[in-house]
Amino acid sequence: MVTSHNLADYEAERERFSWDDIYADADWDAPEELNIGHEVVDRHATDRGKVALYQVGTDGELTTMTFWELADRSSQFANVLEALGVEQGDRVFSYMPRIPEHYVALVGTLKRGAVWGSVNERFGPDGISYRLDDCDAKVVVTTTDNRDTVEDALDDAPSVEHVITVDRGSGAPADDVVFNTALDDASKEYEVAETGGEDDALLYYTSGTTGLAKGVLHKQRWIAGVAATQKYTVDLQPGDLYWSTGDLGWLTGAINTLGAWFWGASLFTYEGEFDPEEWADLLDEYPINVLFSVPTAYRMLREKAEVLEGVDLDLRHALSIGEPLSAGVVEWGKEELGVTILDTYGQTETGNMIINNYPTMELRPGSMGKPLPGIEADIVDPDTGEVLPPGETGEIAERGDYPCFFAEYWNKPAKTEKCFVDGPSGEWYLSGDLAHKDEDGYFWFEGRADDVILSSGYRIGPFEVESSLGEHEAVAESAVVPKPHSERGNIVKAYVVPSEGATPSEELTEAIKNHVKEELSAHEYPREIEFRDELPKTVTGKIRRTELQDEAEEEAEAAS
Ligand code: ATP
Ligand code: MG
Repeated sequence: MVTSHNLADYEAERERFSWDDIYADADWDAPEELNIGHEVVDRHATDRGKVALYQVGTDGELTTMTFWELADRSSQFANVLEALGVEQGDRVFSYMPRIPEHYVALVGTLKRGAVWGSVNERFGPDGISYRLDDCDAKVVVTTTDNRDTVEDALDDAPSVEHVITVDRGSGAPADDVVFNTALDDASKEYEVAETGGEDDALLYYTSGTTGLAKGVLHKQRWIAGVAATQKYTVDLQPGDLYWSTGDLGWLTGAINTLGAWFWGASLFTYEGEFDPEEWADLLDEYPINVLFSVPTAYRMLREKAEVLEGVDLDLRHALSIGEPLSAGVVEWGKEELGVTILDTYGQTETGNMIINNYPTMELRPGSMGKPLPGIEADIVDPDTGEVLPPGETGEIAERGDYPCFFAEYWNKPAKTEKCFVDGPSGEWYLSGDLAHKDEDGYFWFEGRADDVILSSGYRIGPFEVESSLGEHEAVAESAVVPKPHSERGNIVKAYVVPSEGATPSEELTEAIKNHVKEELSAHEYPREIEFRDELPKTVTGKIRRTELQDEAEEEAEAAS
């Protein structure tokens, strides 16, 4: 391995393997010696002016960081970790906003060969300590603004030995390592840890949509698969300005950050939370040409259509992940964003987007698309492990040597084991998500296995009903759950957030029911509709159907 700016060595190293050849041959084996931090940043640090990060703060100020600066700064961070006694494989977690130091810590941790994880800022002390304690994290990187919250979490996270704090003005506690000064004092030369494809690199927790979040371990080789997704799905080109709105607290944030840099694209990030007006201004002001976000954000932009009026968009691609993207939102995107929003599907476990819509493919709006070349994914019967024919519903399943596939749930061998089923053609990993494929191999999402509604002998996927609801002008957002019923087993109940200007009434309820009945079928329409100002969501903005399902159950019980 080479130090950051020992470029002569880097040229020699480059001859050892060529990523272009690896992808041309669709040979997913990453080189034996591989360090993600080094690979995605130092390679582009040959050109002093090439920008890695454009960061806009909540005050609207723009900060830029070149690959050159990021290479230096991350090496300094790695030196600081090493001086603190952080060894290869130790866990380093962040809890901080989308500021440049966050990205420095990510790359520096990887260069040290330590394992990077991150907790989204919307979690409070319990959410933080649950994760830190679960994986015995050694270091937390945070900011002075977040320091009190971290302090509360540390009581229940005894493994943490050091807190590295970015001083944003208020001064860090005396025992902390102060990010800015510690890095300034450290050398910019760093002998990157000699990690290989099979060494631990990332530990990200799932969203906790269905229960307690699970720690998902990925190895250094993960970057080889992620880079492929960025190439074929995101179609990332050098020189692109890529805004992936996902926070580093989720694997998607790490995928899109490290994947973007792998190809030398510039990453755009905004410190603030989602706000339709703010986002429209940013899209207007900066030449962002690739946008990667979540359905909730697109839905809310659609609701606030006026904010996009007069906005000068430079988009070449827009993509979505995390929840199903309805055909209606895709149609809206064509009209208002001028691009087809490409839906992508993945899990923290699959490590990247494995079933996607590609810019090169004929699209079927509402479909998740097709498996990424090189990935073996199919629809499998979760009980027998058999691959199901087109039209039949089963679980989305994956197998093979794809480098992004997770190594294990941290410290939970039994849980890891439970995800696999043996079938006639071998073993499959089961995602817990239900879908079917059509005759042409397009995948159609139906819902999480836990969310499926059994009503009068029918299996009803909530997504189809929600999509249909979403096409009614009075519906801004909806969530569909089973409500226990004495004769039918369950009925379909919909929680609906009305659009701006729509007033809930008996007539409106009937009109919405009829709309779904006509569009879908008489057995799928929601027999009950309840209007709500908002829906319960995870911190990533995913609808928490389990919570609504509990409410519907209690309601049914109280009425019986
Ligand atoms: P937990 O596993 O803790 O309950 P989670 O499954 O929401 O939380 P993630 O790994 O962040 O945690 O999310 C992956 C899940 O998100 C998928 O299993 C799927 O249910 C959903 N998902 C992701 N992308 C899509 C998509 N394009 N369409 C439909 N669902 C999607
Ligand atoms: Mg999950």
